[in-house]
Amino acid sequence: MKKQIEKYADLLVKVGINLQKGQTLVITTPVECAEFARLVTKKAYETGAREVVVRWLDELTDKMRYEMAEDAVFDEFPQGEVAILNDLADRDAAFLRISASDPELMKDVNPKRISRQNKVRNRALEHYMDRLMSDQNVWCVASIPTESWAKKVFPGAEDAVEQLWDAIFKSVRVDQENPVQAWRNHQEALKTRVDFLNEGKFDKLRYKNSLGTDLVVELPEGHFWAGGGTESKKGYEFIANMPTEEVFTLPKRDGVNGTIVSSLPLNYNGSLIENFSFTFVDGIVMEFTAEKGFDTLKEMLETDDGACRLGEVALVPYDSPISNQKILFFNTLFDENASCHFALGKAYPMMEGVEDMSKEEMLAAGVNDSLIHVDFMVGTKDMEITGIKKDGSEVPIFRTGNFV
Ligand code: ZN
Ligand code: ZN
Repeated sequence: MKKQIEKYADLLVKVGINLQKGQTLVITTPVECAEFARLVTKKAYETGAREVVVRWLDELTDKMRYEMAEDAVFDEFPQGEVAILNDLADRDAAFLRISASDPELMKDVNPKRISRQNKVRNRALEHYMDRLMSDQNVWCVASIPTESWAKKVFPGAEDAVEQLWDAIFKSVRVDQENPVQAWRNHQEALKTRVDFLNEGKFDKLRYKNSLGTDLVVELPEGHFWAGGGTESKKGYEFIANMPTEEVFTLPKRDGVNGTIVSSLPLNYNGSLIENFSFTFVDGIVMEFTAEKGFDTLKEMLETDDGACRLGEVALVPYDSPISNQKILFFNTLFDENASCHFALGKAYPMMEGVEDMSKEEMLAAGVNDSLIHVDFMVGTKDMEITGIKKDGSEVPIFRTGNFV
């Protein structure tokens, strides 16, 4: 186990972040993962990091704050914090985030307080987030187990933490002899799919399954697909999510019509939203349902104008190292890579020529903008996705849940 944890830390620094000599690494991590953060810090210095800056998170005191702090604080965000992150981003730091939340910790917290807080935060950090989303900075999101998370994934198991480590190792290919090589091969395989979709130049995708999904998603002119690795603006390849099994692009913000039904629960801000659906008309969610977490979902959709429009289309086969484990991780990083998904909110600007566009021009071209970007899972073993070209011809892309 200890050896695998070392291998994993190594993989994150060398492949996930692809840390360069002289570069600053920022690690954002729950305090529960301190030991692992120290290990990554050591690896980063050994790789030649200029400096490693660790930013500690603690959900338990965050929860107390949501429950007991003065109400006005949820509309504030410290300017000092903005300055620190902008400065690190502008100085070309790499950002590693350890995602390991207790999936239901915040379920009794007033969702309005959380969404107000997120809104001011995301607005204040716009510059920093834009830099990350447009790949000017390299970044990577990865996970390690915490006790509270592991117990939710493997309820009742005494070795829940070990089991979750194992599941994570399988998902990120650390169980393989040479994980770095395994990732190179995996990236090649994803690239084949990316090339197929880019060559197809599909105008629309039609989704259908027996859950009731019946949706047509238009793709904007000049869009492109990506997957596996991302090349930063400076030319360094990094992997923004580890694991990653998706190939993805952006939808046209006003070109989504029909109904999409969720296939897995969504963990949003520490609450679970389950068995939900959205009905879109010309890109906007006109109706939505949720068996559980309706208020949280409503709060999310009301964040701003772009929050009720799609910002990402991602294809993931039903058979993948993550989905084949048949584990519900209650963590989007894993669950989204086990299933076809979409995101509501801000789009990655994956379109030719966006560099020269203003914010208004991007919106007009179909690139959605919002303070949120929330992935939700829709893939099933009977999912059918058909590509429709400009001339009306159709090409099957997914049949029985997998790439054709
Ligand atoms: Zn995605
Ligand atoms: Zn996403």
